[in-house]
Amino acid sequence: MSDPLPKTIDAVVIGAGIIGASMAYHLTEAGLGVLVIEKEQLPGTGSTAAAAGGIRAIFDNELDIRYALETRAAMPTFEERFGWKPEFRRHGYLYTARRESTLDEYRRDADAGIKCGTGARMLTPEEVPEIAPILDMSGIVGAMFGPEDGYCDPYGVMMGFLSAARKNGARISYRTQVTGVKTEGGRVTGVATNRGEVSCATVVNCAGPFARKVAAMVDLDIPARPHRRYIFVTGPFPQVPKTNPLVLDQDNLFYFKPESGTVIMSGMEEEPDEPDDTAVRWERSEGVAEKALRCASVFSEAGFARAWAGMRTLTPDRRAILGPTPVDGFFLACGFSGHGICQCVPAGRVVAEYITKGKSEDLPIEPYFLSRFEEPQEG
Ligand SMILES: Cc1cc2nc3c(=O)[nH]c(=O)nc-3n(C[C@H](O)[C@H](O)[C@H](O)COP(=O)(O)OP(=O)(O)OC[C@H]3O[C@@H](n4cnc5c(N)ncnc54)[C@H](O)[C@@H]3O)c2cc1C
Repeated sequence: MSDPLPKTIDAVVIGAGIIGASMAYHLTEAGLGVLVIEKEQLPGTGSTAAAAGGIRAIFDNELDIRYALETRAAMPTFEERFGWKPEFRRHGYLYTARRESTLDEYRRDADAGIKCGTGARMLTPEEVPEIAPILDMSGIVGAMFGPEDGYCDPYGVMMGFLSAARKNGARISYRTQVTGVKTEGGRVTGVATNRGEVSCATVVNCAGPFARKVAAMVDLDIPARPHRRYIFVTGPFPQVPKTNPLVLDQDNLFYFKPESGTVIMSGMEEEPDEPDDTAVRWERSEGVAEKALRCASVFSEAGFARAWAGMRTLTPDRRAILGPTPVDGFFLACGFSGHGICQCVPAGRVVAEYITKGKSEDLPIEPYFLSRFEEPQEG
């Protein structure tokens, strides 16, 4: 259901994807009146619809790990709290390596995780088949396994947040495109849309791959650039057990996971383009099929039944951009660089805390500020 536009509201959230949904929920929990504005007729049709749903706490730094751990920890009680099933399957993340240098990177990731309790550990090549017997082990020099990680249904998580936000009084206007952000004296005063204007003192840019275009409305150039990635889906494929971990074959640039009796796989493409060009280039399927065969010869029996493409919005350091901007009242929660599902819970919570209290309570937000990309000033 789409709500009419109010004349005035405390905060406008631009975008009803998983991040805008989390943002709306957490802002309403903090007592703000919230309007979510979404240009499409339904929520979650952008990057959120394209995601593989992986939730992993494997990162190379403590902060990204702690953000991901909060999302992972929220999964078991999510349905109880929000009324929607996240369908979290804790089947693990298995990162295989074909090069010693990749194994060294995994060791660093596993070490970074020990302090935070990710549960990730290194595996010898002999141990890998115990976790994923279908893999072809030729060329595999070792692996890292995160047994507590897994994959969810991003739609369920997003809808949980959105329905809870609505219960808290949030309004959601679909088929409404933000066309401008109004400012006066360097601070936000409202938004202009194709259906009229709304006055507000706070705007949060949760526009996913469109975040750079939205930021340009206040003359900000943010380094969050959309890159296309494809997912190819096999027909029914019981050869991969339903409990298989998500396998990421880093040196082959390939991953796969079971999904509803099929297998979804990606050649981990990073094709920079316009945010709305999500057309599938079927010619990419050949390369993905080759990678699949290198990973597990059983995939010679598979064929692709369908495919989709979506945008991952990458920043130069592959970390999200959260928090304030030089324009008072204009905040960012974007540039998730391929891990917006992993970090959706704290991303909304921490930015909402920053907006309402001027600081984040337990998780630091400052390292994610836009200001980290500023050129150091001479003298
Ligand atoms: C193939 C693929 C696989 C992925 N797999 C994973 C994974 O396994 N794990 C993981 O953590 N992440 C994954 N990701 C990344 C994840 O999908 C994103 O980080 C996440 O969905 C970002 O959510 P969002 O809400 O910021 O963006 P979106 O879902 O794109 O939502 C943004 C919304 O803003 C709306 N909007 C934009 N501009 C305007 C405007 N001017 N006015 C009104 N509305 C506007 C859009 O219509 C859209 O609905 C994957 C991405 C892809 C493409």
